[in-house]
Amino acid sequence: MNISFAKVDCSGNELKYLSDVVRSGWLTTAGKCAELEKRFAETVGGAYACSVNSATAALHLAAEALGIGPGGKVLVPTMTFTASAEVIRYLGADPVFLDVEYGTNLITPAIMEDAVARHPGAKALVLVHFGGQAAEMDGVLSVCRRHGVRIIEDAAHAFPTRYKGDMVGSFGDVTCFSFYANKTITTGEGGMLVTDDETIFRRVKTMRLHGINRDIWDRFTAKKANWEYDVVAPGFKYNMPDLNAAIGLAQMERAEEFRVGRQRCADFYYENLVGIPGIDLPCCKGPMEDHSWHLFWIVLNGEREIERNTFIERLNEAGVGTSVHYKPLHRMTYYRERYGLKPADYPNAERHWKGCVSLPIYPGLAEDELRYVCKTIRNVLAGP
Ligand SMILES: *Cc1c(COP(=O)(O)O)cnc(C)c1O
Repeated sequence: MNISFAKVDCSGNELKYLSDVVRSGWLTTAGKCAELEKRFAETVGGAYACSVNSATAALHLAAEALGIGPGGKVLVPTMTFTASAEVIRYLGADPVFLDVEYGTNLITPAIMEDAVARHPGAKALVLVHFGGQAAEMDGVLSVCRRHGVRIIEDAAHAFPTRYKGDMVGSFGDVTCFSFYANKTITTGEGGMLVTDDETIFRRVKTMRLHGINRDIWDRFTAKKANWEYDVVAPGFKYNMPDLNAAIGLAQMERAEEFRVGRQRCADFYYENLVGIPGIDLPCCKGPMEDHSWHLFWIVLNGEREIERNTFIERLNEAGVGTSVHYKPLHRMTYYRERYGLKPADYPNAERHWKGCVSLPIYPGLAEDELRYVCKTIRNVLAGP
């Protein structure tokens, strides 16, 4: 068998909507983006949505709109992709790295209580819904509100994700989603920023496109001829082309179907891997249905001799693709050297990272493939 780590499903209306755009002769930001924004805002229950060309762009725009700037401190979990922290540096502010809970890789209310005590004056928190499971929003929001810490949700893994009946995208000050090729839905490259705050939305819309005070599209579609526009800030070039939005609209139609397909994989892994000596499984705190199941990992816990990289090699030799999420940011040269970070300060992230292996999880995975993955894991753990 040969089972890849990830596989994109574009077998819905992707080509149809894409050909609409190509035939229309207008390939960049226009009607398809507007439609995707409207659908997305409705789906997650946010007032405003702004399409962008990556989640990284969304995170940058979010932090900019919240007024993060030189000298500011922003709390960021160490167990995440570098985009969560690099955008803070774009603005001349500094990320303060936090350890996460073992088993979920989430920031908990207790971690936040400790963080605000140790880092008074922190302006914001980048809250990563790791693997597609929502953080404990009640507790985290309440600590943040009491201490004046704004929340930027990094929901790159978390569509569609629920927490106590509401969708991620309806909680924090700003929520950022990713439509990168390997995320739960994709536009190839792309992202979405969602907020309930009109001031944030207006700033984001302006900064998304060169700091121009109105959309290019507005200029071309306005009833009366109008060439004039003004530049009110040195903005960015972060708009999503309609080509990508067309694919996004087709993917949106199947987002819940995809989620159910991934949940089926997670169910299978829990049933078939539970109790095997040598591995820890991820902790799912709420109902399985609330989780987007972007990632499913095992952690080699040391009860078996095998080292993580050897384990990955063995799986690879047997035709099972895997990945690692993540080498924590405190171990990355740039952050480690700039901030003098020590592994001993992040025990839970270290414990996860030293043994973590992400398993294939996507709707197209057949049951015999899932069975083969589990059998291979058992064989490799049992040794030669
Ligand atoms: C993928 C990812 C991003 C960046 O998404 P892009 O759309 O590729 O910019 C940010 N944060 C996390 C946690 C991610 O996994």
